[in-house]
Parts: sequence; structure tokens; C-alpha cells
Amino acid sequence: MKSYRKELWFNAPTRRAFINITAQIEECLRESGIKEGLVLVNAMHITASVFINDDESGLHHDFDKWLEKLAPHEPVSQYRHNVGEDNADAHLKRQVMGREVIVAVTESKLDFGPWEQIFYGEFDGKRKKRVLVKIIGE
Ligand code: ZN
Repeated sequence: MKSYRKELWFNAPTRRAFINITAQIEECLRESGIKEGLVLVNAMHITASVFINDDESGLHHDFDKWLEKLAPHEPVSQYRHNVGEDNADAHLKRQVMGREVIVAVTESKLDFGPWEQIFYGEFDGKRKKRVLVKIIGE
């Protein structure tokens, strides 16, 4: 069995962002040389997510509005976590959007369903953060 590991770095210029990372994961898969197996992609920070959905700007806007309704950033004083911090909402948003995705690798390709793309979801940006890519198989 082959195994591959890589960390991808992101530095979103805004507090919240959705970044399509599918091409980078496909590049990792090419580098790995693995033809059949599994790819794990996970955020290495507890205020960011990795998730799969459609690459459609209206939908991303809807996600952002929905997450802000569930866990508004302001007022920051509404959260007990925000003693010396202001990112409680980002922890909650990450929990809803998830930590990681696993995608099957078939014939050297990410074996997606229709319209599936992989996204990095940032909820406390303007700093460098990492995503782990682990690929196993043969
Ligand atoms: Zn925090």
C-alpha cells in the first residue's frame, strides 16, 4: 500500500471565505501516483472546515447567511468562549460545516457524484491555516 501526506496552506483575506480546493487535491492525487484508494482532506484548525458541495456563488452566499443566522459573529459578548477571544461563532460554524471529507479514488480520479467539489471553509480568517491531505491506496 502506498501512502501520501501533504499540508496545504491558506490565508483568506477576509474573516469568512469558501475556497474551491478541488484542483489542489487533484494535483496531490497526481503526485501520489495512487490509482485506487481513498483521499482524506481535513482542516487542521478548529475554526475552519473542509466540505463537499456545489461550486455556485448563490449557494455560497446562502451558506454564509445561514451560518450567520445560526451563529452570528456579533455581538461577540454573547458567547462565553469570547473571553479574550472573538471567534466563538467560528468554532460553531466549523462544527456545522464539518472537519473533513473522504473521497474514493478510482482509476486515478476523485470519484465524485454530480457537481461535487471540495471546499475549504474559513470562519476566522486573515491568518495562515492548514489543510491536511492524506491519500492511501495503490
Ligand atoms: Zn476560539
